[in-house]
Amino acid sequence: MSHNECDVIGCNNPAYKTISATELAKVNVSFKVSSNRGRIHLCKEHYKEFKKALRNIKKFERWRIGSIYLL
Ligand SMILES: [Zn+2]
Repeated sequence: MSHNECDVIGCNNPAYKTISATELAKVNVSFKVSSNRGRIHLCKEHYKEFKKALRNIKKFERWRIGSIYLL
């Protein structure tokens, strides 16, 4: 393979970043990838969405920890 494309189904953009399938499984994203193991290639747009989903998870964890103190 000389050059990689985004692994998101229906996306033909060139790969921008590579992440691991386990990282992707932790977050809630609206797209589906053609493989659910190993390395996942993401284009710039889909990588942006992945990063956003990652931030949302961290926010949610903070909120959960915060609510424990309120109880
Ligand atoms: Zn893509």
